[in-house]
Amino acid sequence: STITNHMPTAELQAIDAAHHMHPFSTNEDLAKEGVRVITRAKGVYLTDSEGEEILDAMAGLWCVNIGYGRDELAEVAARQMRELPYYNTFFKTTHVPALALANKLAELAPGDLNHVFFAGGGSEANDTNIRMVRTYWAEKGKPEKNVIISRHNAYHGSTVGSASLGGMAGMHAQGGIPIPNIHHINQPNWWAEGGDMTPEEFGLARARELEEAILELGEDRVAAFIAEPVQGAGGVIVAPDTYWPEIQRICDKYEILLIADEVICGFGRTGNWFGSQTVGIRPHIMTIAKGLSSGYAPIGGSIVCDEVAGVIGNCEFNHGYTYSGHPVAAAVALENLRILEEEKVIDHVRNVAAPYLKEKWEALVDHPLVGEARIVGMMGSIALTPEKETRAKFASEPGTIGLITRERCFANNLVMRHVGDRMIISPPLIITRDEIDEMFVRIRKSLDEAH
Ligand code: PLP
Repeated sequence: STITNHMPTAELQAIDAAHHMHPFSTNEDLAKEGVRVITRAKGVYLTDSEGEEILDAMAGLWCVNIGYGRDELAEVAARQMRELPYYNTFFKTTHVPALALANKLAELAPGDLNHVFFAGGGSEANDTNIRMVRTYWAEKGKPEKNVIISRHNAYHGSTVGSASLGGMAGMHAQGGIPIPNIHHINQPNWWAEGGDMTPEEFGLARARELEEAILELGEDRVAAFIAEPVQGAGGVIVAPDTYWPEIQRICDKYEILLIADEVICGFGRTGNWFGSQTVGIRPHIMTIAKGLSSGYAPIGGSIVCDEVAGVIGNCEFNHGYTYSGHPVAAAVALENLRILEEEKVIDHVRNVAAPYLKEKWEALVDHPLVGEARIVGMMGSIALTPEKETRAKFASEPGTIGLITRERCFANNLVMRHVGDRMIISPPLIITRDEIDEMFVRIRKSLDEAH
């Protein structure tokens, strides 16, 4: 028989438990209060199979930038599916959705980031980047320049390559990663690791770890440095102001390609089209996904500068995905970009949503559980602590209070995420002031209950 939204929740949960394997979950945890079956969504609200309305302060997985329920995207997808549901861009063929999207991205991206290599999502795009930067240096006669430096706690995806770039210890413990020639330096998390240093001193010290690593490995061996302008899944770690200028200086000095992973930061999340513009860096490659289509279709890619794209174009780059530039996903992404532009969503972020959110977010430090509160544009984090003055950690296993708080949020119909004992938000960019007010009612209630 057909399984539908209208079946009793318990039956849907039982089928899910029997057959559906969930990412980053254990069966025990899934079973505890039962998975919630999400049936529809509109704007910033999800609806579950019990009819509860849940405020999604994470925009799904940091991706639904224009909010849920935009019919225009559904119509574009249906039209494209009828006209040309699939064709590839291998072997001397192209199609309008892919070339038009590449053209639009070249217009939006800063500097000479004029060329796009498409992928199915962010993980695949970062795998592309690993092979592209190594191939670039090999073609330049420097095959030994193949080490990529990344950061601990970074999240760059779940494929073998992208998870190797990432610095998540839990991921490195499984499945034979990292692959060779990936090196990790520390993240600029002043709250947790800054000790007696000022944020400015700490930012410089952490950036200089890149230089130390390059000198240790040998500058002839380092191909690229990859980082998110604002580290997302690592805890929305906002680097001190001194950090990025120093990183840029070091990359320039040692001829290291700079890859900005814009999978979360791109498409308005930080108040500019790209996070690189917010933190003032000039990457050679930007990884994009998520907000590119606002999550309505799976698509990602790498936006590549003239120099690297020129070299790669001159050799046969033996790399590509069946769904590179998938016409339906590309058409949906183009429509999403049209909406972002024509509805001036980034102006709304800068002038309305982000300033209001920042005021309310930073005021959370008056709560007894909250140490620091950091926010850039529409991505924010708070550090939970038993003692603000000393930036102390809880005696319990790291993540315990974070998990409790997340569960209180969920019970209060609010999706918020925890990374260890940091709580994170990344709401749809179209959120209104009234919806922000409602979000804070639920956040404060949940924090009070967790305290
Ligand atoms: N890079 C960053 C910064 C991400 O946050 C993510 C996903 O959360 C990825 C890459 C991986 O993207 P995807 O899940 O689309 O493969």
